[in-house]
Amino acid sequence: MNFSYSEKTIELQQKLTAFMDEFVYPNEKIFDEQLNAQENRWAQNPPIMEELKAKAREKGLWNLFLPDSELGAGLTNIEYAPLCEIMGRSLIGPEVFNCNAPDTGNMEVLVRYGTQAQKKQWLEPLLDGEIRSCFAMTEPDVASSDATNIESSIISDGDAYIVNGRKWWTSGAGDPRCKVAIFMGKNDPNAAQYEQQSMILVPLDTPGVKIERMLSVFGYDHAPHGHAEITFDNVRVPAENMLWGEGKGFAIAQGRLGPGRIHHCMRLIGAAERALEEMCIRVQQRTAFGKSIAEQGVIREWIAESRIDIEQARLLTLKAAYMMDTVGNKEARAEIAMIKVTAPNMALRVIDRAIQAFGGAGVSGDYTLAAQWANSRTLRLADGPDEVHRNQIARLELKKYAAHGKGN
Ligand SMILES: Cc1cc2nc3c(=O)[nH]c(=O)nc-3n(C[C@H](O)[C@H](O)[C@H](O)COP(=O)(O)OP(=O)(O)OC[C@H]3O[C@@H](n4cnc5c(N)ncnc54)[C@H](O)[C@@H]3O)c2cc1C
Repeated sequence: MNFSYSEKTIELQQKLTAFMDEFVYPNEKIFDEQLNAQENRWAQNPPIMEELKAKAREKGLWNLFLPDSELGAGLTNIEYAPLCEIMGRSLIGPEVFNCNAPDTGNMEVLVRYGTQAQKKQWLEPLLDGEIRSCFAMTEPDVASSDATNIESSIISDGDAYIVNGRKWWTSGAGDPRCKVAIFMGKNDPNAAQYEQQSMILVPLDTPGVKIERMLSVFGYDHAPHGHAEITFDNVRVPAENMLWGEGKGFAIAQGRLGPGRIHHCMRLIGAAERALEEMCIRVQQRTAFGKSIAEQGVIREWIAESRIDIEQARLLTLKAAYMMDTVGNKEARAEIAMIKVTAPNMALRVIDRAIQAFGGAGVSGDYTLAAQWANSRTLRLADGPDEVHRNQIARLELKKYAAHGKGN
């Protein structure tokens, strides 16, 4: 395995780091202030975001996630990993470069499975950062970590499909720029288990689509992006909105979640790296009981453990990325599952230590630590709970020794 960075990556790393320092970190507070100044936090994306996006695009720091070289930067996963890490250092970072979830996953679905007409209508404005999209899979009424449980329906009716169901945790749907959902539902409950599901594009302005409420995450509303509970009541969409074909929903979900999962992990490494950096600075600036906080043995242990944690997680991320690039997402599924468990738990440990070292300031809104902790915690659930990934890892591990089983 060769984890050395390509020339292209090194150049982009330098450009991205300079951009983050000059434009992103100094504007995090301005983003919050502009959002808070709006009477309705969901009314529009703070103008600073559009300004930053225009600057990033001008500098060629745009759509870096997309391996397709005609539409995106044409980077492999291993080339993208260190760049995505840099963006993840700020919660507003990924959108500045049009590299934020769930749009990245949705764009990849459209690139891979979309028809020319679907690409023209939805992919192009997404790649331009003009509209946003959401992914509606999870349902409040069933255990959605098992996607075969999904109960929503997509029923063929002449030249259209009729979509019904209730979804929640549909991230990004609160944004007024969010125009389309990739909706997952059953089109044939009698088909083979993994062929009952389909995915269809549902424009959010179609009659019958209703945002019931926005959910909060530990009290954060994540406006203007947010997480919605949405009802779909006899929503009629043209038949040509079907993605790939009837019964392909599960296959698309699997393809979509591979890169999406590892991107979350890369961002989490960036979040942890920034927390460690801030902790190291803070503890050298403050004195308690006659000596610098940095001189306390326990603080030094937290710093050392955090460095070890980050390095381990980064290496596993790079290994997973390397395998995705060389043997494919399917063969890399154990590594993807391993890093999806490791990265959020690692980030939580590192950020929690930084919060403690910051004292009361750590849980306040004055620093990004509290919001980054809350975000990291959601990633032990989103894109599959830890337990489901561990289960898969154990299954693959046991399979290696299946010949030794008693077969009962
Ligand atoms: C902030 C946030 C954003 C999200 N964004 C989206 C989005 O954009 N689109 C979308 O469709 N969904 C989204 N989700 C939903 C997320 O993917 C689901 O919450 C997740 O898949 C779990 O499904 P569930 O909530 O129905 O939990 P359930 O399926 O009810 O599971 C509950 C718990 O049961 C346990 N469990 C389940 N299976 C096993 C097992 N095999 N072994 C051991 N224990 C098990 C786990 O501890 C699990 O956490 C988001 C969630 C959050 C919190």
